[in-house]
Amino acid sequence: MRKDVSQTYAAELDAQDSLQQFRDEFYVQPDKIYFDGNSLGLLSKRSEKALLDILNSWKTNGIDGWVKGENPWFYLSEKLGQKSAPLIGANSNEVIITGSTTANLHQLTATLYQPAGNKTKILADELNFPTDLYALKSQLELHGNDPKHHLIQVKSSDGQTLNEEDIIAAMTEEVAFIVLPSVLYRSGQILDMKRLTKEAHHRGIMIGFDLCHSIGAIPHALSEWNVDFAFWCTYKHLNGGPGSVAGLYINQKHFLKKPGLAGWFGSAKEKQFDLTLDMHPAVDSSAFQVGTPHMLSAAPLIGSLEIFEDAGINHIRQKSLQLTDYMMMLVDAELQMFDFSVGSPRNHEKRGGHILLRHKEAARICKALKENGVIPDFRAPDGIRLAPVALYNTFSEVWQTVRILKNIMMEKQYKQFANTRDVIA
Ligand SMILES: *Cc1c(COP(=O)(O)O)cnc(C)c1O
Repeated sequence: MRKDVSQTYAAELDAQDSLQQFRDEFYVQPDKIYFDGNSLGLLSKRSEKALLDILNSWKTNGIDGWVKGENPWFYLSEKLGQKSAPLIGANSNEVIITGSTTANLHQLTATLYQPAGNKTKILADELNFPTDLYALKSQLELHGNDPKHHLIQVKSSDGQTLNEEDIIAAMTEEVAFIVLPSVLYRSGQILDMKRLTKEAHHRGIMIGFDLCHSIGAIPHALSEWNVDFAFWCTYKHLNGGPGSVAGLYINQKHFLKKPGLAGWFGSAKEKQFDLTLDMHPAVDSSAFQVGTPHMLSAAPLIGSLEIFEDAGINHIRQKSLQLTDYMMMLVDAELQMFDFSVGSPRNHEKRGGHILLRHKEAARICKALKENGVIPDFRAPDGIRLAPVALYNTFSEVWQTVRILKNIMMEKQYKQFANTRDVIA
């Protein structure tokens, strides 16, 4: 990539973009630049159609929709799990689409966290998304273990990134269970899942990852790395829609473990409607479902996962890195005089799908960006997150955004707004 700040270079990069046809599949608003696909991905026409098809199946089949139609509801969670498996490098029966991110972490912890003797502690970090820590603390309490002593949170030295050496150093003999993000939600740093898994297993510790910010943005090889478990939401890079059904991966070596939170949808399919009072769990990831799946919130994934299949996660990653490289090049060239700094790792192996720009006026700069038609999101205290998404954003949009930011700073437009966050930031 050249150091070239001209608009014609952006157009040149767009012309060479092999994924450009996918933009037309999404509802991109003509007067907006949407850089918030890492919080809520945009609706695609295929997802819209898939949802309408499921509604139609309800309309025409009633109860028989569970076993009739193009996508019988009874098998949809497994089918979507199979379709998600290539995105995380798992075997198809290791993945199930179910629940929510937080609920799946509860399920996996209830199943796999088995404190014994001195090995009772859970290792996490101080930069993870708070809901994961809330869930882990409550799971510790259910075991009668005080989170103050039993939850270890690896510290960040710069408030943005984690040092893998620090994480490994915290894997002491007392640690039973580790939960870490694959990509940090603020800085976009990628943790080396392969290395951390190897180090954890070396010490007899179970390890899993929260993939909310990595699935659909970067490739993974969870089975090959032998990761024990993972969980993720599907409404960010996967474009499943607000509150779409989440994902759960459990390594096949744990298939025979008893689900910590049992429910009838975890039954072996052929036994479920025997309605026996003793449960016969499925012998794969399917066993970790609880109740009746949320069909209308799973349906959009039929369409969106098909788009990922067509585009290919490696192509998506390639373009995503180009977009973020390009954005950082422009920020370095055009915005440094206004005291912006890049809070995301520069190195490709360490950088996920979004960029964190830091500035002490970040909250109100975000408001000024929105006023100018650019949708970022603000992350306290000083972060502007921008996610140029490979499937629907362009290099020209990146160029325009940097130009708009420069104007906002030169004209001090941000001073019209209060430097505080809104209810949802
Ligand atoms: C978005 C996000 C969540 C959200 O959890 P839900 O249960 O879907 O509300 C959890 N963890 C991380 C790291 C996230 O980015």
